Amino acid sequence: MKKLWSPWRSHYIESFKTKNDSDACVFCESQKLSIDSDKSLVVYENKNCFVMLNLYPYNSGHLMVIPYRHVSELSALKDKEIDEIMRTVQMSFKALSATAKPQGYNFGANFGKAAGAGIDAHLHFHIVPRWNGDTNFMPALGEVKIISQDLLVTKKNLIKAFKKLSKKKS
Ligand SMILES: [Zn+2]
Repeated sequence: MKKLWSPWRSHYIESFKTKNDSDACVFCESQKLSIDSDKSLVVYENKNCFVMLNLYPYNSGHLMVIPYRHVSELSALKDKEIDEIMRTVQMSFKALSATAKPQGYNFGANFGKAAGAGIDAHLHFHIVPRWNGDTNFMPALGEVKIISQDLLVTKKNLIKAFKKLSKKKS
């Protein structure tokens, strides 16, 4: 049987480092870009956390919900951050349902390199939309990856969906 619960063997940080030759945290850097920039994969900015597309998606629409604060431990999160992260995960499911109509989801996180975290200094929660029969899909790892047009289209659709959802909320 294929292991379904290991979608996050991300090469994201390694490639980020070689490209920029620094130890900058990709999630902290992402917060500095405007959401409208084509270099940004952020699709929603909440008060304590934000949502961005994974540059190395396990599946189309692979999202990450990330606290703004650079912390690695779950215990370092404040109650208001945990609360908002879970509400934002809920919104992300809705946004994906509205745009991509997945048949299922994986949701989870890896804490520490031993658990398979690609970036273990800044915690983040993965949301991977799933479709029946998609288990053979694997991202092309080790290539130089640029933000593709497909990813930008996905991004635009998700930004719209999140905007609708946050209007409904208020
Ligand atoms: Zn960070």
